Amino acid sequence: MIIVMEKNASDDQVSHIEQRVRDLGLKAHVIRGTERTVVAAVGDDRKVARESLESAPGVADIVPILAPYKVASREVKKEPTQVCALNLKVGGNSIGVIAGPCSVENEEQIVQTARAVKAAGATGLRGGAFKPRTSPYSFQGLKEDGLKLLDLARQETGLAIVTEVMSTEDVELVARYSDVLQVGARNMQNYRLLEAVGKVPRPVLLKRGPASSIDEWLLAAEYILNEGNPNVMLCERGIRTFETHTRYTLPLATVPYLHRKTHLPVVVDPSHGTGHTYLVPDMAAASIAAGCDGLIVEVHPNPEKAMSDGYQSLDFPQFDDMMTRCRVIATALGRTLG
Ligand code: PEP
Ligand code: MN
Repeated sequence: MIIVMEKNASDDQVSHIEQRVRDLGLKAHVIRGTERTVVAAVGDDRKVARESLESAPGVADIVPILAPYKVASREVKKEPTQVCALNLKVGGNSIGVIAGPCSVENEEQIVQTARAVKAAGATGLRGGAFKPRTSPYSFQGLKEDGLKLLDLARQETGLAIVTEVMSTEDVELVARYSDVLQVGARNMQNYRLLEAVGKVPRPVLLKRGPASSIDEWLLAAEYILNEGNPNVMLCERGIRTFETHTRYTLPLATVPYLHRKTHLPVVVDPSHGTGHTYLVPDMAAASIAAGCDGLIVEVHPNPEKAMSDGYQSLDFPQFDDMMTRCRVIATALGRTLG
């Protein structure tokens, strides 16, 4: 349930409600909006008599949260959430752009790419050090050495580092070198991993599982939020359908639909979503037109030579062109890109 505080409720009154909620065996999430503060009481509240909370000082109303996900729900927070890491801003008026190679390969590749995407206007650098590959014989990533190269690229450019963490044992290590933890599509329902990233002070980019419904995805986000980490970005990266012309099918109605259901920002990945370089710029532009809060795009100095996903990577001039086109659309919509 949501305990809606009165507009002028004091901090003490909010803390009192928090304590009461905890005493009832529920988790209390305090959400401060521009209009008013609410306390989301999450857990099994079937036996809780709402009257007992209703009469507490500073309480305006008590309403049930109807959605299966609670803290992620728009019912709890009307204003959109903006997630920030260094200069990367995702949500609200800002469309954050994260770009870089599928995998970190070597120092020259990652530093050169970081410089090029920064020059074109990106504020986040992507690059996998731990790679979830379909085949165990494919390149698995440089692991900690890759993280060190990302750290170096950040020192050179100031870009926020976005990189995947695949298992609970690696959360502390990956968090040490990065600014945003990516939970990959294959791990969207790895609940122990979701709990672990919910406990560290790093924003999380949660990719949609290729066979997951939107409710399952929002409930996965709820696992992270429920551990106390409020900085979750949802990333639509395409789902599996009968269609084989594209690597996945990229459903852009996801963007406005999620904006109705959740306050969390929505990022689109047109690279994995299409699997073809020539489709990426158009789908990036369409994602912005659909209202996305961020883009994550694969960029490589020489896609032909990439160790993974070269067929869907842009080279530097292609990324620069994409940014120019996307900026026109973002500006027309009154939003900033970068
Ligand atoms: C990636 O971003 O390189 C990646 C592996 O993405 P996904 O988890 O969406 O397949
Ligand atoms: Mn990739």
